[in-house]
Amino acid sequence: MIKKFLKRVFSRSAKAKKVGNAQIIPFSLHGVPREQISYGAKRVTDGLQAAGFKAYVVGGAVRDLLLNKKPKDFDVATDATPEEVKRVFRRSRIIGRRFRLVHVMFGEELVEVSTFRRMIETEDAQTDDHGRLLRDNEFGDQEQDAARRDFTANALFYDPTTQEIFDYHSGYKDTRDQILRIIGDPLVRYREDPVRMLRAVRLSAKLGIKLDAATAAPIAQMKSLLDNVPEARMLDEVLKMLLSGHSVECIKQLHKMELHHGLLPLLDVIFEQPMGEKFVMLALKNTDERLAQEKPVSPAFMFAALLWHEVLATWNTLVKQGERPVGAMHTAMDAVLARQKKKLAIPHRHDAVMKEIWLLQQRFDQRSGQRPYRLLEQPRFRAGFDFLLLRCASNEVDNELGLWWDEFQDANETRRQEMLQPEGMGAAATKRRRKPRKKPMAGVQAVAQAAVERVDE
Ligand code: ATP
Ligand code: MG
Repeated sequence: MIKKFLKRVFSRSAKAKKVGNAQIIPFSLHGVPREQISYGAKRVTDGLQAAGFKAYVVGGAVRDLLLNKKPKDFDVATDATPEEVKRVFRRSRIIGRRFRLVHVMFGEELVEVSTFRRMIETEDAQTDDHGRLLRDNEFGDQEQDAARRDFTANALFYDPTTQEIFDYHSGYKDTRDQILRIIGDPLVRYREDPVRMLRAVRLSAKLGIKLDAATAAPIAQMKSLLDNVPEARMLDEVLKMLLSGHSVECIKQLHKMELHHGLLPLLDVIFEQPMGEKFVMLALKNTDERLAQEKPVSPAFMFAALLWHEVLATWNTLVKQGERPVGAMHTAMDAVLARQKKKLAIPHRHDAVMKEIWLLQQRFDQRSGQRPYRLLEQPRFRAGFDFLLLRCASNEVDNELGLWWDEFQDANETRRQEMLQPEGMGAAATKRRRKPRKKPMAGVQAVAQAAVERVDE
């Protein structure tokens, strides 16, 4: 206890000092106190250090704290092997085959502990024909562990005991200057792992910091390397983007870097049709806002939004060919899901919810008799209604429909009875009412713009 206290007091010199190749940034410079580290991460570093090992909070958490953001989770890096870590903590288990990590549990919190690893030197590295690294799981020391990380801001080690930051790649200065910079030669680093290009876009959008010019420059010419990345990892990364809370900014950046087309089927879907794009961007904006308010978001809802205009187009074709609307919807949903499964690897577990949300959309047109009451009782009503509002905001359907349902849900029985439409006024009637709006192109754009502004408010 006293030793720890003295260590902390003596580390409070105002200037960074150099030890070997590391800059050591004292608390008096960076200002991140130990109290900002999660309970679990502190227990892990304390426990490992008490057992004689080095242990630091590392990666995204240190970066986020320096940028005054709330870290998603706290990872720890150590010179202890996974087996040694496991021996220190009773509630822990070793996971992973390729990278063996240890998960240590403290109540709800799970701390991921990784042993320092090194990048494999070029001569003995296993790479594929395009230079992609297939194996980088050799243990190493702290300096080597910093060098194998992607960005300078992600390679900082924070010691909760001394409150010092160890920095081998000027990550502290870059973070202070709000710059995201890749460690080493960008060409080599992107070739080793092309996903770093997407991480560059996602992290700079999410953190609101600038991508360093030399880090950004080669992306346009190297983007085809993403073709060789396994599909599941791509989906993983794209999902991280879409659920980052900054998806709209990510998509804009991808556009700017010309990374959006031809390589990510999930994103191609977004940009396929102009109406679809507007709808999807509104859905993503809505997702970002929900995340900002710490509300839950559902991947199934997002997938349903991404594919909606494809479902709609297929449905329209089938109806024109004479199929009945409800049957045509089932055929369209199955056809679109089957087609997209091949491209996107959307997990099957989302199918049922996506279909429910889509099917509810047809039922919103039915506003007579008992049908609206039955719809309100549907377990997915809320998701379906949120989806309907996005359709209104993107001008696919008349706003009046969304307003009607908004009022009907909360109205008392007398008001509901007044609101109900006479039998026979279903989808066809709604369509008739919408027609005149669709004619003048400029008019449609104005309404769409107004809808976007309404969502912006
Ligand atoms: P987030 O806030 O999204 O979690 P993060 O930087 O913590 O961002 P993770 O995927 O959790 O991202 O990765 C943890 C750390 O592992 C990173 O900070 C980085 O140091 C390292 N890392 C992750 N992916 C790569 C990669 N592709 N190449 C090199 N290092 C990586
Ligand atoms: Mg992380």
